[in-house]
Amino acid sequence: MIRRIGALAFALATLGAARPAAAQLKVVTSTPDLYDIARQVGGNLVTVTHIGEGYQDPHFIEAKPSFVLQLRSADVWAFVGLDLEIGWMPLLLDGARNPRVRPGGSGYVDVSKAIPVLDVPQGNVDRSMGDVHPLGNPHYWLDPENGRRIARLFKDKFSQLDRKNEDRYEANEKAFEARLSTAEKSWAPYLAQIRGKPVIAYHTSWRYFAEYTGMKIVAYMEPKPGVPPSPSHVYEVIRDAKQAGAKVVIQEPFYDRKMSDLVARNLGGAVLVVPPSVGGTKDVPDYITLMTKDIQAVAAALR
Ligand SMILES: [Zn+2]
Repeated sequence: MIRRIGALAFALATLGAARPAAAQLKVVTSTPDLYDIARQVGGNLVTVTHIGEGYQDPHFIEAKPSFVLQLRSADVWAFVGLDLEIGWMPLLLDGARNPRVRPGGSGYVDVSKAIPVLDVPQGNVDRSMGDVHPLGNPHYWLDPENGRRIARLFKDKFSQLDRKNEDRYEANEKAFEARLSTAEKSWAPYLAQIRGKPVIAYHTSWRYFAEYTGMKIVAYMEPKPGVPPSPSHVYEVIRDAKQAGAKVVIQEPFYDRKMSDLVARNLGGAVLVVPPSVGGTKDVPDYITLMTKDIQAVAAALR
């Protein structure tokens, strides 16, 4: 009996040693887009969780206390930055009391540091005026070139924290870029339909997407990022859109579409609702699918 227990214990011990679980890096991200790219690069060497959901407005995530526990044991905390998470991140990090993921810690990853940021304000911007992009536009993941930058940043960080698996992170990252490049080739006919076409966007979240696709945003429903459209602003949007020949309003599922519908009716056009993030709708479970579906939907609306 003793020998059998001994054998069982030995079997369990070797099983435990063979499982990578014990050594897996624990990664927590603020958004599902960072989450998906982290798991593409980390593969089964990491466990990844995310705080915000793709169907939520990323500026106003309600961070539940349960997230403190995830951060307490995390090796990496990766976030969009540019103050997108400013409303709740300091509170969660204080509660987590985990020096690895605090500013200056080895696992504190402000992803925006790897990105050429658009719309960086000149001079002082007062957040009390309602502008939710005080440090520049944080919606950078909607350009696949930035998707690559995010993947390389994760590869570098995971390799730094887990040296022995450097080669595997490198291989995973290369494979992700290859899949993205293949997808990009398939986007070419859609991009040709989008390039140069005028549109109205609800929020400036489509800025990086427009840079990449060549779609021309001629007006925003919001007078400034985070401020809902007023009647006088809507009047200007209709005027500018008519001048530019724009007929389509692009917006996220979580914004009210009453004003957008009004604008579209006046222009004889339509409102296109598309997800800005992984999981924003059921059919976009990963980053490459998100980009593919959004590009196809915009191309169809602008044809
Ligand atoms: Zn925004």
